[in-house]
Amino acid sequence: MAIETSCDDTCVAILEKNKTGHARLHFNEKITSDNRAFQGVHPLVAVVSHTENLAPLIRKALRALPSPADADPSREVNSDGKTVSVDGTPRLRPDFVSVTRGPGMTSNLATGLNHAKGLAVSWDVPLLAVNHMQAHALTPRLVRALEAQKSGLNLTGEDGTSDQSPHSPQFPFLSLLVSGGHTMLLHSRSLNDHAILADAMNIAVGDMLDKCARMIIPAEILSVEGSDSGMYGPMFEEFAFPGSRGSSDYEYDYEPPARRADEIKTFKSGDGWSLTPPLARMGMGEVAASRFEFAGINGQVQQVMHDNPDLSVDGRRILAQATMTLVFEHLTTRLVSALQANNPMRIPSTESESKGGIQTVVLSGGVASNKFLRHVVRSMLEARGFGYVEVVAPPVSLCTDNAAMIAWTGMEMYEDGWRSDLDILAIRKWPLDPDAEGGGILGASGWYRVPVPE
Ligand code: AMP
Ligand code: ZN
Repeated sequence: MAIETSCDDTCVAILEKNKTGHARLHFNEKITSDNRAFQGVHPLVAVVSHTENLAPLIRKALRALPSPADADPSREVNSDGKTVSVDGTPRLRPDFVSVTRGPGMTSNLATGLNHAKGLAVSWDVPLLAVNHMQAHALTPRLVRALEAQKSGLNLTGEDGTSDQSPHSPQFPFLSLLVSGGHTMLLHSRSLNDHAILADAMNIAVGDMLDKCARMIIPAEILSVEGSDSGMYGPMFEEFAFPGSRGSSDYEYDYEPPARRADEIKTFKSGDGWSLTPPLARMGMGEVAASRFEFAGINGQVQQVMHDNPDLSVDGRRILAQATMTLVFEHLTTRLVSALQANNPMRIPSTESESKGGIQTVVLSGGVASNKFLRHVVRSMLEARGFGYVEVVAPPVSLCTDNAAMIAWTGMEMYEDGWRSDLDILAIRKWPLDPDAEGGGILGASGWYRVPVPE
């Protein structure tokens, strides 16, 4: 059983995993607090919402626990067959309770943490208080385990390169976390070792795309379709590339930049306006490679619209395409530079030449559902000799905040022998990176370890 309350979503999940690496989600639901009256999440409103909704949602989840008759004999955890009574009928008792300990708003986290402690004590099972960002990073492994369950794949016995566990993608892998609140490039080297290679200097990419959508999409289209603010991203993509979202073989008229010099070329519309790529003047040293910058291009789009109030629909479409192209190439340049730095031969061209290096790139977060982003990433990786790298994008429902990823992270930590003390507190800022001050995930107090059975 897992609980997530770090922000405005009250989330509960129940996950089961067996020895072949298959996972099954028995329950995964969330209730989001109503913050429409505020600019962003109001912490107090969210705490009230967690306090109202968490206990009823846990009760609902308990009804989804398997009954003893449904017990999977190959379950990962050697459950002692103990049951809990739900509505008077016996259900299999969860083997441990996972919860988000941080980072996030302290009192929001505390609501979930206190419920989790209560459940762990009353069921006499371990508590696993995990890092929320680690959970985002491990999500593609959860997705594979869920897919394996559906397709009947056997995940055990894989030839592990550096990661000996049966889970995939195997470490090391890179994740581009692109959402309304984050723009991050993560290097996941092992369960507890995730380095942040690049981070946003100012606004997040999803936020920037939403702002540009509102400026560029003609008012008549916005007013028909734009009642829900969550629709700006998909609407912007459909406006730039009509018909692309519903098509499986849409042909983009896109040529990836062949060299670094081409990445920083100014886009000239031929219609009196131009757009300069983010950080174009900075070169591509270590500092630039660790930064994403989106406020600048947002300002440029604002200027173009200000200077061209009568821009035609076709002109607006070209502006939308150019904006997305520059933004997505900016994301991908940092990805390419991380691959160049981390794969053993500088530019290997086959999988065997790249052994020990990064074989997988994960695109996650709301923006990763943009098909043109996936196209740009694939095209640029191919153009730079990384065509063998697999690009995967977990479903959006598992990329936004949810408790299934907390359950999975608890599962991996549990299997590795980790447990949390019952006296731990929520952590507002809890860096992922083991080199960060405080020592990253395991640097937090309250972890202890038990022997792991062979
Ligand atoms: P998240 O923060 O993960 O919930 O993702 C929400 C963000 O993803 C918002 O900023 C959306 O505009 C953005 N988004 C969703 N779909 C798309 C899309 N197809 N293209 C670009 N951005 C998108
Ligand atoms: Zn999150």
